[in-house]
Amino acid sequence: MQVYYSISELKPKLNAIKKQEQTIGFVPTMGALHKGHLSLIESAMNQNDTVVVSIFVNPTQFNNKEDFENYPRTIEEDIQIVSHLKDKLMIYVPRVEDIYPNGLQTIQFDFEGIEHEMEGSFRPGHFDGVGSVLKSFFKLIEPNKAYFGEKDFQQLQIVRKLIEIEHIPVQIIACPIMREPTGLAMSSRNKRLSEKQFKEAALIYKVLTEVQADFGIKNVNELTQRVEETFEANTTLKLEYFIIADEETLQPLKNKEKNKKYRAFIAVFAGEIRLIDNIALN
Ligand code: AMP
Repeated sequence: MQVYYSISELKPKLNAIKKQEQTIGFVPTMGALHKGHLSLIESAMNQNDTVVVSIFVNPTQFNNKEDFENYPRTIEEDIQIVSHLKDKLMIYVPRVEDIYPNGLQTIQFDFEGIEHEMEGSFRPGHFDGVGSVLKSFFKLIEPNKAYFGEKDFQQLQIVRKLIEIEHIPVQIIACPIMREPTGLAMSSRNKRLSEKQFKEAALIYKVLTEVQADFGIKNVNELTQRVEETFEANTTLKLEYFIIADEETLQPLKNKEKNKKYRAFIAVFAGEIRLIDNIALN
């Protein structure tokens, strides 16, 4: 495993790999690595000759300054966690100028409406930041395949749209959500939870699995109301949104259609810490 701190160090290595017609897998992360990230890295290692893992807390995708400042940064630990992995792994910790050569500006994308739902409506500008950073990374690294977690399902759909509208020749691989033994989706933000918040946050997945079980029996309003009441009764967690939506368009479900896939999406605050999760319903 090798760590690169600038594109000028990394690019010649990537060019040499491409010359030998070897494949490059790419796993973008914001660091504070956990088993969710490791599952993406493992898939990438199994499917490519070389894997680039980027660690970059992207300032443009944070709509909340404190969230950006408090985001865990554990670069030494991160490097330690993956240090046992084979030679084929490259860690890229870019300089801001590598990614944003013209200053911290975002591109305004038209993701055909997906960007206005859920995370997009509660975190204005978030997906322009995500699109901007990934467009830059894809241009610099030119991976054959890129790996994204279903944990950030809306982001996954945004990335699929991004490569379509920008004609970026990369295959997107979706990876399942890794969970704590309590069911809580693994997240870098979990590191900031108190013991009590961590325990209580198990409610998020519990609620999602209940909705999944009742999806064929109850209607959307009944399901939504029950979720809202459950969180109203909890003093540690505050529900921001619970939405059942079409998996592809992310439009909220009104009337179920036979051939469509639906997912439940949720965002919850534990104090200042914002947690998201989702589950497939059919
Ligand atoms: P992040 O560092 O939070 O930006 O995440 C980097 C990548 O890891 C994204 O594609 C996430 O969706 C994915 N990821 C984060 N948490 C998990 C998890 N619990 N299970 C699977 N993938 C995850």
